[in-house]
Amino acid sequence: MLLVQKYGGSSVSDVERLRKVAARVARARGRGDSVVVVVSAMGNTTNELLALARTVTQSPGRRELDMLISVGERVSMALLAMALQELGVPARSFTGSQSGIITDTSHASARVVEVRPDRVREAIARGEVAIVAGFQGVSREREVTTLGRGGSDTTAVVLAAALQADECEICSDVDGVYSADPRAVPAAVRLDTMTLDEALALAQNGAKVLYDEAVAWARREGITLRASATFSDTGGTRIHPGAAPPRIVAIAADTQLARGPLALLDKLPAPCVRAAGPDGVLLDRRNLHAELPGLIPAATVAVVGARAGSDPTVLLRILNAAGPDATRWRAAADAVVFEVDPARAARLERALHAGLLECPSA
Ligand code: ASP
Ligand code: MG
Repeated sequence: MLLVQKYGGSSVSDVERLRKVAARVARARGRGDSVVVVVSAMGNTTNELLALARTVTQSPGRRELDMLISVGERVSMALLAMALQELGVPARSFTGSQSGIITDTSHASARVVEVRPDRVREAIARGEVAIVAGFQGVSREREVTTLGRGGSDTTAVVLAAALQADECEICSDVDGVYSADPRAVPAAVRLDTMTLDEALALAQNGAKVLYDEAVAWARREGITLRASATFSDTGGTRIHPGAAPPRIVAIAADTQLARGPLALLDKLPAPCVRAAGPDGVLLDRRNLHAELPGLIPAATVAVVGARAGSDPTVLLRILNAAGPDATRWRAAADAVVFEVDPARAARLERALHAGLLECPSA
């Protein structure tokens, strides 16, 4: 079997954890499998690098930002390769560019356009564990690009597709996908399985467990994902292709948004725009990396599920559960999205979860 395993930043936040990840990879290889590992930057590294840039300038150029923040994943890949070698496991690290992750030129939120993992294939053929730096690629103009915050997931999925891997496991500090963020909603429960359609709607509405481009790619290529905890064996969530059942699956909240005047539209990198209309533009601040005038912090809370917004009976139940906070909302086929003041997002998230997912008749 060929496995692709991705480890998030908190799984490699210090050398002790990195060694444990190396041991986990070595165990998989010991079972006779070939393993390709994708790593995120250690802990808070990406945020620290961004903060460092802001000490130099409030509006860093996006090309130079990519040169800077792509470094985080390179640190992890080299250290993990060393840790595996310490265990006697042959391993070799590769940057995004060396792994053949080719992207468009949209710096700091680039999209993958092609994958040519020749060197990764050669490493596998030699019996090595290939360690790939997540979150980065190279454009056709030979510039280093990064894939947007959380983009290491994309690296794992596009490699799994290109290598026709048997499994793509996304490992982090949470043991799967929950019916809401368990930090905000203590009653949230883990989902054993869900469809890629459901996962995509969740990711697009800001749930942080999986990155939307990664899920979109998996869905297009029909790749089953597994979200699991790095340091425990408590099951995880299997995310598979196939038709979504008519259910409300989860609540997603996104508190990293901002609302601004419509005139900003042509100043924004396209991937940052969430919605635009006569009342302005709703944008994702995560990959903006610039100070813009007239932005007001905003948040959305979304009820996700097939037919959530298209079945009037379901829609009414959702609006009832939202109560007085349901002032600004829109319905899509697979989600009903409420826009609220960020300070009220957690309360609305809990109310929707309680009203829609905690009662036995739900
Ligand atoms: N290190 C990057 C970030 O923090 C990418 C990732 O972790 O997926 O956003
Ligand atoms: Mg990270």
